[in-house]
Amino acid sequence: MFKKILIANRGEIALRIQRACREMGIQSVVVYSEADRDAKYVKLADEAVCIGPAPSAQSYLHMPAIISAAEVTDAEAIHPGYGFLSENADFAERVEQSGFVFIGPTPESIRTMGDKVAAKQAMIKSGVPCVPGSEGALPEDPKEIIRIARTVGYPVIIKAAGGGGGRGMRVVHTEAALINAVQMTRTEAGAAFGNPQVYMEKFLEHPRHIEIQILADTFKNAVWLGERDCSMQRRHQKIIEEAPAPGIPRRAIEKVGERCAAACKKIGYRGAGTFEFLYENGEFYFIEMNTRVQVEHPVTEMTSGIDIVQMQIRVAAGEKLPFTQRQIELRGHAIEVRINAEDPVKFIPSPGRITTWHAPGGPGVRVDSHIYTNYFVPPNYDSMIGKIIVHGDTRDQALARMRTALSETVIEGIQTNIPLHRELMVDAKFIEGGTDIHYLEGWMAARKR
Ligand code: ADP
Repeated sequence: MFKKILIANRGEIALRIQRACREMGIQSVVVYSEADRDAKYVKLADEAVCIGPAPSAQSYLHMPAIISAAEVTDAEAIHPGYGFLSENADFAERVEQSGFVFIGPTPESIRTMGDKVAAKQAMIKSGVPCVPGSEGALPEDPKEIIRIARTVGYPVIIKAAGGGGGRGMRVVHTEAALINAVQMTRTEAGAAFGNPQVYMEKFLEHPRHIEIQILADTFKNAVWLGERDCSMQRRHQKIIEEAPAPGIPRRAIEKVGERCAAACKKIGYRGAGTFEFLYENGEFYFIEMNTRVQVEHPVTEMTSGIDIVQMQIRVAAGEKLPFTQRQIELRGHAIEVRINAEDPVKFIPSPGRITTWHAPGGPGVRVDSHIYTNYFVPPNYDSMIGKIIVHGDTRDQALARMRTALSETVIEGIQTNIPLHRELMVDAKFIEGGTDIHYLEGWMAARKR
């Protein structure tokens, strides 16, 4: 096992990885920007290295600074967390070329999955169901594009091969709008992602977002740890996640889960990963794979009892997965809410000093957050400042626990979306379960009136 790991991230996930290291008796080195000097995990770290000023490009995205920090502290491995450099194949490559272990899949896996056209082709080959659409990138010939769209059937969605974070997508309802939309998406994709390739999919009108968590080692073992329902989204950003997904037959989930595990073996995947699907009319359609730990991983940790971050570290150190698929038992129901420093109605970011912080507690309640009373939320990064996760025997119990937890939570000095979560936890449709990915936006539009 490693003696020392460098954590190339910030915020709650830096603290989460640090906790995993401490439990395993591994020393942690954290890197931080000038804006994060006072962060909790910086104070708790065995070693801390300042890697630059607040802007991410000069700190958390600055590869030479991170690799030098690993060199001067004699770290053996680098955990990238999520966001920042976590899905950057060049970074993974540079980490390995510099003699460190990258805690994640191989650079080749990251590269394939980062190109959505290549990812989809790999999935089709591995027997994972995909959204009907163009086979590969769209050709130049407008006649050919029109023909493909007719076969797929309107509405269609044009997506950038290199897209991410919900950007680089355009829905097209009519043939008249098609060619212009393809051209515009190409131009934008070229500018934003350095790759002008686009592809076409059938636009699903009322899907749910269901994803499968997998773990794989370097001995060709791969397991899936159940699903997560992440349909509660605003602008393609998840805000509530839960497991299991309400109302989907277990047999259907098992079938897709098994396919994902089989695909991991086929492509030689290692570490933790997530297969994201849209689910509509009883069918799953693969949209993309995330080759890293996800924000919502605690939901699966609560239902499976498996520490996903520790497993990432074990697999990276060359250990075998300590369980088989049959030994994985999923229990009860878990729900996570993301706490964002933002106005709960207008969603304008609300950085600043937290004057009061009371965390919730009690049976089945977990809080993953790096904040504390008097902590200053810097304006430079993502607005998420933590997560509350609850577990119960049933979904009803989990909902009741989340309501109780939210009623106990106090954050003063800045605005947060906690009032929004309180409202959603008593919303009749959400309580019923099975809302689609457009539900939250519709709910917010209705609230405004
Ligand atoms: P990104 O990498 O930018 O997150 P995804 O391919 O995961 O891109 O898609 C993000 C979101 O866009 C999905 O969660 C869904 O809301 C919507 N979306 C993507 N593809 C489709 C589709 N074929 N039909 C309907 N909605 C889609």
